[in-house]
Amino acid sequence: MKNKRVTSIALETLSKEKGLLIGLILSAVAVVITGLIPPMLLRQFIDNNLSKGTTVGLSMLTLLYVLVLFGIGLADFLKGVVLTTLGQKITYRMRSATMAKRLLMDHLYFTKTMEGDTVSRIINDTEAVDVLFTGGIVSMIIDLFKIIGIVLSIFIISSKLGLVTLGLVPVIMIITSQFQRGMLKAQRRSRALIGMISQRIAETLRNMLVIKANGHERSMMDRFKNTLKQHYFANESINGYDSLFPVVIQITKAGSIAILILSITSNTAWIGITIGSLAAVIELLSNLFDPIENVGSELQSIQQAIAAINRIDEYLAQKEEAPRNQNLDVKEILSIRPAVLEFKDVSFSYEDNQAVLKDIDLTIQGGQKVTFIGRTGVGKSTLLKLVLGLLPADHGSITLNGIDVSTIAHSAQRQLYGSVDQNFPLIKGTLKQQITLNDPAISDEMVISALSKVGLSKLCTQVSQGLDALIPQELSLSEGQKQLVAIARAIATDPPILILDEISSGLDSVSDARIKDTIAKVSQDKIVLSVTHRLSSISDDVTVVILQEGIVKNSGLAKDL
Ligand code: ATP
Ligand code: MG
Repeated sequence: MKNKRVTSIALETLSKEKGLLIGLILSAVAVVITGLIPPMLLRQFIDNNLSKGTTVGLSMLTLLYVLVLFGIGLADFLKGVVLTTLGQKITYRMRSATMAKRLLMDHLYFTKTMEGDTVSRIINDTEAVDVLFTGGIVSMIIDLFKIIGIVLSIFIISSKLGLVTLGLVPVIMIITSQFQRGMLKAQRRSRALIGMISQRIAETLRNMLVIKANGHERSMMDRFKNTLKQHYFANESINGYDSLFPVVIQITKAGSIAILILSITSNTAWIGITIGSLAAVIELLSNLFDPIENVGSELQSIQQAIAAINRIDEYLAQKEEAPRNQNLDVKEILSIRPAVLEFKDVSFSYEDNQAVLKDIDLTIQGGQKVTFIGRTGVGKSTLLKLVLGLLPADHGSITLNGIDVSTIAHSAQRQLYGSVDQNFPLIKGTLKQQITLNDPAISDEMVISALSKVGLSKLCTQVSQGLDALIPQELSLSEGQKQLVAIARAIATDPPILILDEISSGLDSVSDARIKDTIAKVSQDKIVLSVTHRLSSISDDVTVVILQEGIVKNSGLAKDL
């Protein structure tokens, strides 16, 4: 997939939502124009009716006034609805695009990046795009037009007062933006501290047993209280700004109106202005404050959103996996028997120039069981990930019946491989879902059979919900049981290749023997690649491959080594 950028995704959404876009433009124009009418009506009322003491046309004026106020509310409502809908559509597309990217990304990115970082980009940063395109840019354009409209209206009433207002705009802007800057700083600090508090809670919950076992309750509590206290002070400062801000705005407003009135009274040439015009100008001037305040905060939102957008763009530009062959016929690959898995001169490194595996040459045939052994960190799990096509070889190739494993589509993999990872993650869901991974082709009978092969048939009868018991709410599993469930997941589809990474590390000797027996029974003509540190449990007919410093040091049948 061509790397998309945030702006192109947002513009794509806007171009697909032409109706909403037109609605937005119309409602924005209506918001700007309707907002300018009431002061003009007020001017009419004072100059034509109040000053002259006549009621001619008053009912019409009143009706118009009510209608205009209704129009202002309606235009504002419509603008809000259209903006929110557009914003939601953009967020939806952004989240879909970032998640789709995650599925296409090179596996190496995730081995180097913290999970929380990716989550934050998909959840928080995508929301910032909504802020930029709707709340930020659109609202700012509307507010700028409101400011221009108000200043123009004052110019129309009196060009001299228009000039005074024009001089006041930057002063009001400076005062509000100074205040908003301080407020934003306090808000940022508060948000950062909230993040820290959630992190501390998650960390404490995760490590509760370690904390208690080592008597660290007090120091944990002190650390937590300290962060809470800092958050309290940050919020106090926000509250201070919150309560002072309206006061400052009122004072600036009063000062501006005073300057306007003084500029009229101090200059006799200006005295000709009508009372109605003066009232309209004062009303317009008061209306100037809201959009000026908004522009300040919108500019800040835009700045923050741009930082978030840069983070998403950086994420969207990450390297993707080489394209896989979606048309590969799995049945055809499987029809060649015995299956041949061939490593040709395979080298791999996580970091540049630090080879983990070097020049691996192996040929494994269907029915052959191969166990990789070697010191911790030698590269056993890495080698299995290369076979699964999760990591790309830097050099050389791994082929299954002549097909490069890195080209096999992920959707086809479960028909070929059953794998148990060294860290076997359970998924959110029921006992059945742990085995099927929501694949409808795996029936309840297949699930029960797989569970019984690993000695877990009792699990289904232990709880009333049986296979539908939610894990961990209704059925909790021990570490060893989780390992057995992972093995059941691997063997459920009866795949021709089993890849088992230290599957017996959490099992007692009885369960271990049972699993060995089960694997032997279900894998008569299969290729079984495994990793173990329990050398004593390796059967004589198993081929042992000894890895040392990234190369195959020795290999042969266990009984011959
Ligand atoms: P163990 O017996 O402990 O499971 P292993 O033989 O399975 O070890 P691997 O997990 O394959 O070892 O790791 C091989 C080497 O690659 C180690 O030195 C490890 O530090 C490094 N390594 C593993 N995963 C990554 C990663 N995501 N990024 C960078 N280096 C890694
Ligand atoms: Mg390992």
